[in-house]
Amino acid sequence: MQNIQELESICKTCMKCELSKTRTNVVFGKGNIKAKILFIGEAPGKNEDIQGIPFVGAAGKELDKLLNKIGLSLDDAYIANILKCRPPENRNPNNEEIKLCTPYLIEQIKLINPEVICTLGNYSTKLILAKCNPDNMKSIEGITKLHGKSKIIVLDEKEVKVIPIYHPAAMLYNPKLRETMSIDFEKIKEEINCEKKNKKNF
Ligand code: SF4
Repeated sequence: MQNIQELESICKTCMKCELSKTRTNVVFGKGNIKAKILFIGEAPGKNEDIQGIPFVGAAGKELDKLLNKIGLSLDDAYIANILKCRPPENRNPNNEEIKLCTPYLIEQIKLINPEVICTLGNYSTKLILAKCNPDNMKSIEGITKLHGKSKIIVLDEKEVKVIPIYHPAAMLYNPKLRETMSIDFEKIKEEINCEKKNKKNF
């Protein structure tokens, strides 16, 4: 794939899975395509589906606040989901959908070429730590155990630091997670500063 715009136009006409029949819009991604930090969520929700933009609802606002707290904005990051189309009633993605949609995410990661990937919630944490192989997701522990713990993995022959954090939507249902999320975002800040020290052009 030559560039992200080309990938986005291919993705926007995708009919590979059943979600193409119920979606309003394909939700490809948003942010700075040259960002060194990539956030990956699970799938678009209602507002994202209507607007065709990820993280525009209440969870998106929480993510913006958390980014701002550590001195970052969308100019510093790119945000995408595993699935590019909304599962009806916001149900969990199924294996088939993840398998069919993951090639788009793999291409997105290659083109954005991030130094740090922050996975938002269980599904993206398991998929990325399984090195984007949906068949290996079951062998990865859940977000409750992994949040806030960074790990370096090799994706497409390149080392990338992965930092799992809870999905911001989880905070809306469980306000007790608010403090945990703030602590985990501080860890993101530390890891980014550490990367900046190690790599001159971060
Ligand atoms: S969810 Fe992914 S694989 Fe399914 S139709 Fe949308 S873009 Fe295609």
